[in-house]
Parts: sequence; C-alpha cells; structure tokens
Amino acid sequence: MSKIFFLSQQNYDRIEIYNAVKKIFDYFGGVGNFVKNGEKVLLKVNLVSGHEIKRRVTTDPSIVYAVAKLILEQGAVPFIADSPGIDNFKTSAEKAGFMDVARELNIECKELTDPVDLPIKNEADYHKIQVSRFVLEADKIINLPKLKTHGQMLLTMGVKNLFGCIPGRLKAGWHYNVGLNREKFASLLLDIYKNINPCFTLLDGIIGMHGEGPTSGEPYNFGILAGTQDALSMDFHLCKMLGAKFEDYPLWLAAKKRNFPECELNYDDVVWDSASHIFPDVKIPKTQSMRLLPRLPFLERLMTSKPVHIPNLCIGCGRCEKICAAGALKHENKKLYFDYKKCIRCYCCHEMCPVKAIEFKESKLLALINKL
Ligand code: SF4
Ligand code: SF4
Repeated sequence: MSKIFFLSQQNYDRIEIYNAVKKIFDYFGGVGNFVKNGEKVLLKVNLVSGHEIKRRVTTDPSIVYAVAKLILEQGAVPFIADSPGIDNFKTSAEKAGFMDVARELNIECKELTDPVDLPIKNEADYHKIQVSRFVLEADKIINLPKLKTHGQMLLTMGVKNLFGCIPGRLKAGWHYNVGLNREKFASLLLDIYKNINPCFTLLDGIIGMHGEGPTSGEPYNFGILAGTQDALSMDFHLCKMLGAKFEDYPLWLAAKKRNFPECELNYDDVVWDSASHIFPDVKIPKTQSMRLLPRLPFLERLMTSKPVHIPNLCIGCGRCEKICAAGALKHENKKLYFDYKKCIRCYCCHEMCPVKAIEFKESKLLALINKL
C-alpha cells in the first residue's frame, strides 16, 4: 500500500465530500484502523483567525463534518479544535463554519488553551514546547490542514498546521525566539509534528490559496484531497507538484539537515485516483532566498522581504501591532511605523491583517537572487 492517497474532488458538496473522505480512509483500511470506540479524537482544523469560508483560508467545514461523522459512526468522540493567533475563538470558529458542524453533530468545538510542557528530545536549544493540554489529553489527533502558500515558510500544509497546537500568543513568542532564521523555525515545526504525531492527516486541497498566503493570497482550485499517515512526505511531494523548489522550502532544508528520510521522494509512496494532476502557474511567494547557505547573519535581512504598509487599505484596527512579538511595529491613526532593525520578518502582522494592508517588499539583493 502507498503512503499518500490523492483524490480528485472539485467541489464541497456535503454528500460528495463524505463519500470522498470515506474512500480515502477506506484505502487505509477504514476509520476503524485509526480510532476506536470511546476514544477522544481531536480534529486539528486550520482556523488561523476570523475569516469567511469563501476566503479559503480555513479548512472547509464540509470536510470537518465528514471526518467527524465517520468518527462518530465508529463510536469514538471527536471534537474540533484550534487556537487562533489573536482573534476570539468562538467568533472565528463561527465564521469558518466549525460551530455549525459542532451544533449539527452535537460535538464540542473548543479553543486550544491551557499550555502544558511537551518535552522534546533534540539537539536544539529548547527541550520543551508548550502545547495545549487538550492536545496531550486526546487519545488520537487527526490533522485537517488546508493547502496554501505561506509568505514566511513558502507553503503550509500538514506539518505547519500543527503549530496551532501552541496556544494563542505563545505562537508569536516562538516566532520571536527563533528570530530571522526560517530553517530554525522549520526545525521547531518538525519537533512539534514528530512529538504530537497525528494518527492521520487529511488535506483540504480542493480550493486552497496561492500568492500571498496564508491569509492574503487568492483562492486556487487545486481540486484535490489527500490522506496520509505521513504528513511530512505528503508536504514534500506537494512542494514538488506545485513547482516550488526544495532549496527555497525551509521545512525541507531543516529536515535534510536532520537527515530525515522523508527528504528523498519515493514515488511508490503516492497513489492517485485518476491519471493526471497538473497545477499550472501556482504563485509561490519569493519572500526570502534560502539558497546562499550557509547564510551570513548581516545579509539575512537583505535576503528577506520586509513588510510594508498600504495606508489606503488600512482600517486602523491595530491587530498588526498587537501580534508583533518583536515590538517592531507601532500603529497610530492608520499609520504604521516599522523598526526594521528589530523586525524578524515573521509576517505575523501580514497574516493577521484583515484587509491585506500589509504586503512584502523585496530588497534589491533579494530581487537579484530571485531573477537567477
Ligand atoms: S513587524 Fe511584522 S514581520 Fe516584523 S517582527 Fe513584527 S510582526 Fe513580524
Ligand atoms: S495594517 Fe492591517 S492590521 Fe494593521 S492597523 Fe491597518 S488594517 Fe489593522
């Protein structure tokens, strides 16, 4: 049996999605292979912050519904969960359609709060990560990411989605801890993924996002669902399929450095339900060059795009200043003042801006590298 099952799916029709999701699980022996009667199963959706479904930022509720229903049919107890970076959880989950699913199936939809230590065995300078107690208390975790591009990390899919297991503003703190070094941040993502160890990942790639993802890009009709027990391999295969380069993908670089076997693509691991899948003209962010490794610290900022303000779009909400863990941003009367010496290029301000009023600006050096 192959490790990653891709299925063509062009719409979010409830019945079609239920059948498609069931078909994916059945390929791996059925939902019963992953969850047992009475087990608590955390469905880790991609919520990010309060966005309407049509923006395609969040996991589509039809997929959450299908997975939750299949788990209920197994006699297990699913609950929907995530932790937005800044917004109120209930309002965000309502907008994303998760609360409707919870009400309809009479299951919980709750915020990942109550941080507890998750010990990490690695060679990094941290030996624990604080994740929500609900993550550690769940018997099983099913990961439900969205397929999107990502200004900081190039792409966000299976592995990156689990960063949301860190409660609320603690996420921004981790951005600050690792600073400008994206490979280090990717290594943290690998630790979270390997230690949380979801039993299954089901990716919503029907309508994902490209361009200035994960929140300000444009919807892109990839027309796929994917199921796997190996989200890391799935992410690397998708990177290749979307036309992105491994040497620009911090997650791949970090995994390569740590000798993860998933870095070598094995095409026998992949099975498709139909013949051809081509994704033309996917807009991949070019916000940093990872190619001049080992990078010199004084060049780091020059090789990374900086966030800039688009004043005429700004509504003056102040969310950007609130999320900035580096204290590199001040907001006053719809004007932003960046301190680029402090700025760690995490793009949390860009990600949390509700009206696309922060975009990326390449340095001359980066523009030159991107032309090579
Ligand atoms: S200004 Fe924006 S990109 Fe820079 S550190 Fe703050 S949140 Fe991150
Ligand atoms: S730039 Fe965006 S997040 Fe910041 S104040 Fe303006 S609208 Fe709000």
